[in-house]
Formats: sequence, C-alpha cells, structure tokens
Amino acid sequence: MAKAPATEIRPGVYRIPTAPWDLVNSYAFVDDDGQVTLVDTGTKAAPKKISAALSWIGSAPSQVTRIVLTHAHPDHAGGLNTLANETGADVVAHEADAPSLRSGRTPARDLSSFGGRLLERLPGGGFTPTEVAEEFVDGQVLDVGGGLEVVHTPGHSPGHVALLHHRSGILITGDSIFNVRGLRWSPAFFCTNFQLTKKTATRLAELDYEVAAFTHGPQITDGPRDAIRDFLRRERVATD
Ligand SMILES: [Zn+2]
Repeated sequence: MAKAPATEIRPGVYRIPTAPWDLVNSYAFVDDDGQVTLVDTGTKAAPKKISAALSWIGSAPSQVTRIVLTHAHPDHAGGLNTLANETGADVVAHEADAPSLRSGRTPARDLSSFGGRLLERLPGGGFTPTEVAEEFVDGQVLDVGGGLEVVHTPGHSPGHVALLHHRSGILITGDSIFNVRGLRWSPAFFCTNFQLTKKTATRLAELDYEVAAFTHGPQITDGPRDAIRDFLRRERVATD
C-alpha cells in the first residue's frame, strides 16, 4: 500500500513529509472554517508533495490563507515561492528572518566550524525571493485554530522559531532539535550560531505540550516533554 501523503497527528493538524524517512516535514493546520495554515514548505521539489497532501486532506489550494516559516533555510523555504503563488496565501515569518526570505539569501553560517566555512563559499543554496506579508516577534499568538504561539529560538538562524499550538498541545520544534535516529542537534555548520542554538533550545524544556513535532524526523507522542528535557540535561545545556 502506498504511504499516505500526510499523517493527522491531532484532529485538524497534519504532518506532511516531503523527503524519505520523514527527514523533512511540513505541517498543515485546518481551522474549523476550512482555512489552512501551512508551516514550512520543504525544498524546491516539495510543493508537488505538499499539494498532493492538501488534496488528500480535502483542502483546495485557495483554502491555504497563511504560510508560516520556522526559518529561512532552503529545506524549509525552498518551496515557498511556488506555494505562495499557487495558493495566494500570506507569508509570515519572524522579523529577523524576513529579510532573508525577501532576498532569497540564506542567513550567515557558523564560521567557527569547517563545514560552515565550506558551505559559505558554495554558490546557490538559497531560494527564490518571496514577499513576506507579516512579520512576527517572540510571544505573539497567531490566529490559527485556537492560537499558534511564536517561541523565538534563535541560533539555527537569527529568526528561527518553534511554534506551540494551544488547542492540540503540539509543539513544532523547528530545527532547534532534530529527531533523526533519536534526538540530536542540527549539524553546527547549518547554524548561524551553534552555541546559541543550544542555549535557546532550553526554552522548549519550559513549555507545556503533549506532542513534540519535528521539522526533521517523526513526532513524539509518548512523554515528549520528558524526552526533550532528558536530551537537554544529557547535553548539559539544562540543569534542572
Ligand atoms: Zn532544516
């Protein structure tokens, strides 16, 4: 049997894998009135998969009214321009990453790592410049079915955010923490400031949620908060 193009992780909240083995995920929140908010848009190749998932969910492209970006990297914003054009949705992102989305340039890499210095010299790696309709800041609650709270967790990029959906109890960690063969950090060379990534991830230990949903890897539904707190303790970035 072919794999379904999306997984409903809580009523009205879907994870849409856009790469094999759940390595890269987008999310769709379907409001009671049928409006859809998309979180992240995968690589340039992802829009076909996301469109297929939306029709599997039963949503038309015109029902997507908002596209939220966790951050401005090519594996999250690569499909942005195509999807923004297809749906006519407003693009919203943190104020510190909005300039990168508008210019199509990935924020600076952590040059303290060899990989970061190498990546910095490679051409391309960006995405198509796209207009951002609305910029948000830490603590803002977006008008997505029951409220989607912005948790600014800079480091991976200056405007990187996690997103807490109040009604479903889902936390989207963004790239603060990966769940690829267990919890782990993003490779340092993908980060603007790797030390800051680790430091701000401790914010995820303080929040209340019932599901940890990752942009890289499958969700954790069984004790996600304990799993994340244990990881942070193991990594010695949280002490209590
Ligand atoms: Zn990523």
